[in-house]
Amino acid sequence: MRIFTASLATETNTFSPMFTDLDSFRSSFYARPGEHPPTPTLCSAPLIACREQATAQGFTLIEGSCSWAEPGGLVNRACYEYLRDEILQQLTAALPVDAVVLGLHGAMVAQGYDDCEGDLLSRIRALVGPDTVIAAELDPHSHLTRKRCEMADLLIAFKEFPHLDFMERARELVQLTLAAVRGNIKPCMSRFDCRMIDVLPTSNEPMKSFLARIRLLEQQPGVLSISVIHGFMAGDVPEMGSQLLVITDNDPSLSQQLAKQLGMELFAMRGKSMPEMLSVEEGVRRLQTKNNGPVVLADVWDNPGGGVAGDGTLILREVIRQQLQGIAFGTIWDPMAVQLCFAAGEGAEIPLRFGGKSCATAGEPVDKIVAIKALRASAWQQFGGSEVPMGACAWIQFDGIDVILNSNRCQSFDPSLFRALGIVPEQCRGLVVKSTNHFYQGFAAIASEVLYLDAKAPYPSDPRRNQYRKLTRAIWPIVEQPHLQHHESKRGISPC
Ligand SMILES: [Zn+2]
Repeated sequence: MRIFTASLATETNTFSPMFTDLDSFRSSFYARPGEHPPTPTLCSAPLIACREQATAQGFTLIEGSCSWAEPGGLVNRACYEYLRDEILQQLTAALPVDAVVLGLHGAMVAQGYDDCEGDLLSRIRALVGPDTVIAAELDPHSHLTRKRCEMADLLIAFKEFPHLDFMERARELVQLTLAAVRGNIKPCMSRFDCRMIDVLPTSNEPMKSFLARIRLLEQQPGVLSISVIHGFMAGDVPEMGSQLLVITDNDPSLSQQLAKQLGMELFAMRGKSMPEMLSVEEGVRRLQTKNNGPVVLADVWDNPGGGVAGDGTLILREVIRQQLQGIAFGTIWDPMAVQLCFAAGEGAEIPLRFGGKSCATAGEPVDKIVAIKALRASAWQQFGGSEVPMGACAWIQFDGIDVILNSNRCQSFDPSLFRALGIVPEQCRGLVVKSTNHFYQGFAAIASEVLYLDAKAPYPSDPRRNQYRKLTRAIWPIVEQPHLQHHESKRGISPC
């Protein structure tokens, strides 16, 4: 048995001004055949899961390139075609294969390609023919297009948000792939379009219980896998939205019935999944009370993991205005300021302008005389079993406030990001992180309280106000009752 594996992934915020090119992949993650480290990354976990099984299950593994770019704006066309064609050439050289196992994200959009994953999967299908099993792991923040479902045999998304189960899902994908190659199962995928878009953290209710039920249903005979595709509201593509994906063992009526039933259950949960969001002023005021352990404030909508810059200063400016001390910010993206800090050196005190440079809505730059407390040429944070590069970083201090400036855009996953620069997060009064929910597991462990702040910018967080041009279906919350046909002509949205 011969299995080819590769990965190509990023999440595209089509509203973001930060275009994604080859350098974006190289600075996040890019490993050619044989170069992949023994630790998985979020989107290349299938390669590691294949390596684990290759010897035990007696198959030959052919490794292709794996790459991941921090979420950003549209992917440069030449960059997408280069990375895609590299994988296609590697696969061509590896033929014949019994299976292709891919790590994708699912919300990658390039100039001229609204559905990069659909394009890649259909080219792979054309190369391998109808009998080779094509399997892919997806991020739930993906667009599940018709094309992908037609071209692949097995698609499995991470269940958890935070996505800490990426390795578990990859192992499941590889097990099902092997079973399908051996003819022990015949995967049958069905999907249901929930006609909605929402943010669906699974660390709290109602999603927590919903997932628990899904796990029980997966034990039912004939059910192989159930994925909740959350969708990604910052991607303006025709099929954006939440979907339910069910794979059964050759039982189309069961997979269709389950997908619809669970899909309508998810629809009934719309608008109820996000924890309470505070205004910036209110959230920062909560830092004034002395707590036993740090209060963690999440800057939910300046999350580089959603494709924005992560250099917003709205919360920092409010902390300065309320004259609070003992607050640490991890991180604010500003490669130019990091460069200036490196030139001045550790221990120097310099006038510095930082943050707020990438867009008009996320706060003005901050000007301060700062002490440079620490510099790291290459700093890393952990996320589950993976290591996330933050690039060259500077820890600056002023007015009793600590800020980590980073040069690789990345969201805040874990308290290790503070420790990487020498800040002891447990000793801070408050920690401000840029993340929607991936930070939760790591930071809740050391927090006296976790608060979600709605600074209203720069992420396009309100679908009713986003200027979608390609979205073709009526979905909630743009339309109140999208499952009713007569709403379909509203707001220029036509039936698909
Ligand atoms: Zn995601």
